[in-house]
Amino acid sequence: MRKFGYFALIVGLLCIVGALAMDVSVSSGAGRVNNIGLMAERQNFILIGGLLLLVGVIMAVAGKRQVAVIGSSNDGRACPICAETIRCAAVKCKHCGSEVDSVNNRLGFDADVVVEPTEKERRMLWVARGILYSIFAGFVVFSLLGR
Ligand SMILES: [Zn+2]
Repeated sequence: MRKFGYFALIVGLLCIVGALAMDVSVSSGAGRVNNIGLMAERQNFILIGGLLLLVGVIMAVAGKRQVAVIGSSNDGRACPICAETIRCAAVKCKHCGSEVDSVNNRLGFDADVVVEPTEKERRMLWVARGILYSIFAGFVVFSLLGR
Protein backbone atom coordinates (compact mmCIF):
# COMPACT_ATOMS: atom_id res chain seq x y z
CA MET A 1 0.00 0.00 0.00
CA ARG A 2 2.81 2.34 0.87
CA LYS A 3 4.65 1.51 -2.33
CA PHE A 4 1.45 2.20 -4.27
CA GLY A 5 1.25 5.57 -2.53
CA TYR A 6 4.77 6.46 -3.60
CA PHE A 7 3.94 5.28 -7.10
CA ALA A 8 0.88 7.56 -7.23
CA LEU A 9 3.02 10.38 -5.88
CA ILE A 10 5.65 9.94 -8.59
CA VAL A 11 3.06 9.61 -11.37
CA GLY A 12 1.32 12.73 -10.08
CA LEU A 13 4.57 14.65 -10.08
CA LEU A 14 5.40 13.48 -13.60
CA CYS A 15 1.91 14.53 -14.73
CA ILE A 16 2.44 18.05 -13.41
CA VAL A 17 5.98 18.36 -14.73
CA GLY A 18 4.94 16.98 -18.10
CA ALA A 19 1.99 19.35 -18.24
CA LEU A 20 4.13 22.36 -17.40
CA ALA A 21 6.65 21.36 -20.05
CA MET A 22 3.87 20.92 -22.63
CA ASP A 23 3.95 23.21 -25.63
CA VAL A 24 0.52 24.82 -25.80
CA SER A 25 1.27 27.06 -28.75
CA VAL A 26 0.67 26.31 -32.39
CA SER A 27 2.10 28.07 -35.40
CA SER A 28 -0.24 30.27 -37.38
CA GLY A 29 0.12 32.93 -40.05
CA ALA A 30 0.97 35.50 -37.36
CA GLY A 31 3.61 33.40 -35.58
CA ARG A 32 3.09 31.17 -32.51
CA VAL A 33 -0.23 31.50 -30.74
CA ASN A 34 -1.57 29.70 -27.67
CA ASN A 35 -4.11 27.02 -28.42
CA ILE A 36 -7.07 26.98 -26.05
CA GLY A 37 -7.66 23.26 -26.52
CA LEU A 38 -4.07 22.43 -25.64
CA MET A 39 -4.20 24.80 -22.67
CA ALA A 40 -7.32 23.05 -21.38
CA GLU A 41 -5.58 19.71 -21.82
CA ARG A 42 -2.61 20.96 -19.83
CA GLN A 43 -4.96 22.13 -17.10
CA ASN A 44 -6.49 18.65 -16.97
CA PHE A 45 -3.07 17.09 -16.58
CA ILE A 46 -2.19 19.46 -13.76
CA LEU A 47 -5.49 18.66 -12.02
CA ILE A 48 -5.02 14.91 -12.35
CA GLY A 49 -1.39 15.18 -11.29
CA GLY A 50 -2.35 17.22 -8.25
CA LEU A 51 -5.01 14.73 -7.20
CA LEU A 52 -2.63 11.81 -7.69
CA LEU A 53 -0.06 13.63 -5.61
CA LEU A 54 -2.58 14.16 -2.83
CA VAL A 55 -3.71 10.54 -2.88
CA GLY A 56 -0.10 9.38 -2.94
CA VAL A 57 0.73 11.43 0.14
CA ILE A 58 -2.31 10.08 2.02
CA MET A 59 -1.42 6.50 1.14
CA ALA A 60 2.25 6.90 1.94
CA VAL A 61 1.46 8.39 5.34
CA ALA A 62 -1.32 5.94 6.22
CA GLY A 63 0.82 3.01 5.10
CA LYS A 64 3.65 4.08 7.35
CA ARG A 65 2.30 2.24 10.36
CA GLN A 66 5.40 0.25 11.07
CA VAL A 67 6.96 0.33 14.49
CA ALA A 68 10.28 -1.17 15.39
CA VAL A 69 10.31 -3.63 18.23
CA ILE A 70 12.15 -1.87 21.00
CA GLY A 71 15.31 -3.62 22.02
CA SER A 72 14.98 -6.39 19.50
CA SER A 73 18.10 -8.31 18.54
CA ASN A 74 18.67 -11.54 16.64
CA ASP A 75 16.61 -13.72 18.90
CA GLY A 76 15.37 -11.48 21.63
CA ARG A 77 12.80 -8.75 21.96
CA ALA A 78 11.02 -6.88 24.69
CA CYS A 79 7.75 -8.26 26.00
CA PRO A 80 5.03 -5.66 25.25
CA ILE A 81 3.53 -6.24 28.72
CA CYS A 82 6.47 -6.43 31.13
CA ALA A 83 9.36 -5.29 28.89
CA GLU A 84 11.51 -8.26 29.85
CA THR A 85 13.52 -9.81 27.02
CA ILE A 86 11.84 -12.84 25.46
CA ARG A 87 12.51 -14.99 22.38
CA CYS A 88 11.20 -13.71 19.05
CA ALA A 89 9.27 -16.88 18.32
CA ALA A 90 7.68 -16.92 21.77
CA VAL A 91 3.90 -16.74 21.93
CA LYS A 92 3.88 -16.55 25.73
CA CYS A 93 6.11 -14.43 27.92
CA LYS A 94 8.24 -16.50 30.31
CA HIS A 95 8.43 -13.61 32.77
CA CYS A 96 4.87 -12.42 33.18
CA GLY A 97 3.00 -15.23 31.44
CA SER A 98 1.05 -13.00 29.08
CA GLU A 99 0.31 -14.16 25.58
CA VAL A 100 2.26 -12.27 22.92
CA ASP A 101 2.44 -12.44 19.15
CA SER A 102 5.46 -14.26 17.78
CA VAL A 103 7.79 -12.13 15.70
CA ASN A 104 9.55 -13.42 12.63
CA ASN A 105 12.90 -11.82 13.14
CA ARG A 106 15.16 -13.92 10.97
CA LEU A 107 16.23 -10.84 9.05
CA GLY A 108 18.24 -9.78 12.06
CA PHE A 109 18.49 -6.59 13.97
CA ASP A 110 15.67 -4.09 14.47
CA ALA A 111 13.10 -5.91 12.43
CA ASP A 112 9.90 -4.01 11.84
CA VAL A 113 6.56 -5.32 12.93
CA VAL A 114 3.63 -4.41 10.75
CA VAL A 115 0.79 -3.04 12.82
CA GLU A 116 -2.75 -3.36 11.58
CA PRO A 117 -4.08 0.00 10.38
CA THR A 118 -6.61 1.62 12.66
CA GLU A 119 -10.25 2.05 11.66
CA LYS A 120 -9.64 5.70 10.75
CA GLU A 121 -6.62 4.87 8.62
CA ARG A 122 -8.47 2.08 6.89
CA ARG A 123 -11.28 4.48 6.01
CA MET A 124 -8.70 6.98 4.75
CA LEU A 125 -7.15 4.31 2.55
CA TRP A 126 -10.53 3.42 1.12
CA VAL A 127 -11.22 7.06 0.31
CA ALA A 128 -7.79 7.42 -1.27
CA ARG A 129 -8.31 4.26 -3.30
CA GLY A 130 -11.76 5.45 -4.39
CA ILE A 131 -10.38 8.79 -5.55
CA LEU A 132 -7.58 7.06 -7.42
CA TYR A 133 -9.89 4.64 -9.20
CA SER A 134 -12.35 7.37 -10.16
CA ILE A 135 -9.48 9.45 -11.56
CA PHE A 136 -8.34 6.53 -13.68
CA ALA A 137 -11.89 5.74 -14.75
CA GLY A 138 -12.54 9.39 -15.62
CA PHE A 139 -9.26 9.59 -17.47
CA VAL A 140 -10.09 6.55 -19.57
CA VAL A 141 -13.62 7.76 -20.32
CA PHE A 142 -12.44 11.23 -21.29
CA SER A 143 -9.66 9.97 -23.54
CA LEU A 144 -12.14 7.68 -25.27
CA LEU A 145 -14.73 10.43 -25.69
CA GLY A 146 -12.10 12.89 -26.92
CA ARG A 147 -11.39 10.77 -29.94
ZN1 LIG B 1 6.17 -10.35 29.93
